[in-house]
Amino acid sequence: MFDNEFRKSYPFLTQYFESILTSENKTLSHCILFYGQNIEVQYKLAVEIARILNCKGNKSIDCDCFSCRWIRENKHPSVVTVSPIDFKEDSSKTVISVKQIQNIKASLVNTSEYYRVFIICDAKIVNDEWKPYGLNFDNFKAEASNALLKTIEETPQNTVFFFLTRDKTDVLATISSRAQGFFVPNYERKSESISEVVNLFENYPNLSSQNLFDYSQKFVDQLKVDENIFEKCLSYFNQMLKANLDNNVLKTKIIKDMFYIEKAKKMFDKGINPQTISEELYLSIMGK
Ligand SMILES: [Zn+2]
Repeated sequence: MFDNEFRKSYPFLTQYFESILTSENKTLSHCILFYGQNIEVQYKLAVEIARILNCKGNKSIDCDCFSCRWIRENKHPSVVTVSPIDFKEDSSKTVISVKQIQNIKASLVNTSEYYRVFIICDAKIVNDEWKPYGLNFDNFKAEASNALLKTIEETPQNTVFFFLTRDKTDVLATISSRAQGFFVPNYERKSESISEVVNLFENYPNLSSQNLFDYSQKFVDQLKVDENIFEKCLSYFNQMLKANLDNNVLKTKIIKDMFYIEKAKKMFDKGINPQTISEELYLSIMGK
C-alpha cells in the first residue's frame, strides 16, 4: 500500500483508494481525473494505484514481486504512460497524437491477465529527467480527446484511465464529465505544517470518543507552541472539503466541523482555557 509519507500528506486520497483497492469487488472507476497544481504527485499516485492493482505479492510498499519491479522500472506491459514524448516513433512531439490513441484502442482488443492502466499526461525532459506535466488543449487536442471518448465510455474490464491536469477545465468537458474527479492538493512544500495537523485528526472522520483525552491533549500541546493551529486546521479541512465535494454526507460533516473549529478559535481569542476549548471541539466533532 502507499508509503507513510504519502499517507500523512494525503490521508483522504490514500485511505479512499486503499479501501477500494482492498475490497473484494474493486469498484474503481474506469476513468479518473486528477486535478491540482502538483502533477508529479498525481503521477506518483496513479503509478502506485497501478502497482497495487497488479501486485502479485502482498501489495506492501517494498513488495519485490515481478509486477511491482516492472512498474518501478517503468516496463510493465500493461501500465502505460501516454504523453507526447512517450512514443517510440517520435520523442520531439508536443501533442498526444491520434495515432497514440489508436494504439491504446488496438491494445485493448487483446485480453490481458493484468489490470491495464493508462496514465495520460504531458511530459518534458528537464535536466535529463522525465517529468510529468498537466494536460491542456495544446498538448491534448480535441481530435485526440474525441478519439478516446468511446473507449472511456465502454472501457473493457480491469482497465483504468488516469488524466492528470492542473484544472478540470483543462480537458474537454466530454472527458471530465465522464471521469471521477479528485482534487490532489499541493502539500509538498508545506508538508511539515500539514502533517502535524493531520496527526491531530487521525482516523477522521471516525474519531473514537474513547480517545477523547489523547486527541484533546495533543491539540492543547500543539496550541502551546503554535497559535496558528486553528488556521492550519481550517486549511486542512478546506482541502478535505475540496477533495470530497462529490460525497454529500462527508461534505456536510466537514463543513459542520469547520464551524466548530472557528468556534474554538473564537473561544481561544476570548482567553478561555485551552483544555476546555479542546475537549469541547473534539466532543463536537465526535458528535457527542
Ligand atoms: Zn508486488
